[in-house]
Amino acid sequence: MRMVLLGPPGSGKGTQAQLLAQRLGVPQVSTGDILRAAVREGTPLGLRAKGYMDRGELVPDELVVELVRERLQRPDCAGGFILDGFPRTVAQAEALEDALREQGRALQAVVYLRVDDQEVVRRISGRRSCERCGAVYHVLYDPPREDGRCDRCGGRLYQRDDDREETVRARLRVYEANTAPLVERYRAQGLLREVAGQGTPQEVLGRVLRALGVSRDA
Ligand code: AMP
Repeated sequence: MRMVLLGPPGSGKGTQAQLLAQRLGVPQVSTGDILRAAVREGTPLGLRAKGYMDRGELVPDELVVELVRERLQRPDCAGGFILDGFPRTVAQAEALEDALREQGRALQAVVYLRVDDQEVVRRISGRRSCERCGAVYHVLYDPPREDGRCDRCGGRLYQRDDDREETVRARLRVYEANTAPLVERYRAQGLLREVAGQGTPQEVLGRVLRALGVSRDA
């Protein structure tokens, strides 16, 4: 399955990408996770990206496009991938189409997770991420078994700097201006599958799988 998860910050893209990756056996490619790792490691990419991320702005297209292009060429993406947080602009969507065309491939589906702004703020304020593997939790809706520890790898859970309320509002504005237009683009291409994003991760996963035409127990 070659697919994109689209939706505002806090719509559950990371959580669903993680569940879908396990369920479908293809990698999750999260530009946010890759950029955060680069910032942590202090690589040249990380140094260039950090300021934009701290302000809730988009990292310039050419940086992100290059990292996705390189990532999709790795062998583990041969059988498909789940893009999470990319594309976020029309230019990125065009670059993705070009990169896949060069490889003789194309996207098969774009899942659009719909949630309202109030729900976004509720979710993001309780969100905690694993500093080691990037797994995402929510203190109320999806807590880890042990407080502050990742169920998957035992890593420490932390609150992302850009999950502060003021930055979240900036990210929502950036989403409306730059990313929301992609919904119509993918609808016109016949790729869009709209899914209601409220409810537990498992409830949303069930809807996503149905929208993709994948049986839940297969
Ligand atoms: P995310 O984890 O997807 O919410 O991404 C966190 C931050 O990383 C965003 O607010 C942007 O600053 C940056 N970022 C992630 N993906 C992209 C992208 N496709 N284009 C530009 N910036 C991105």
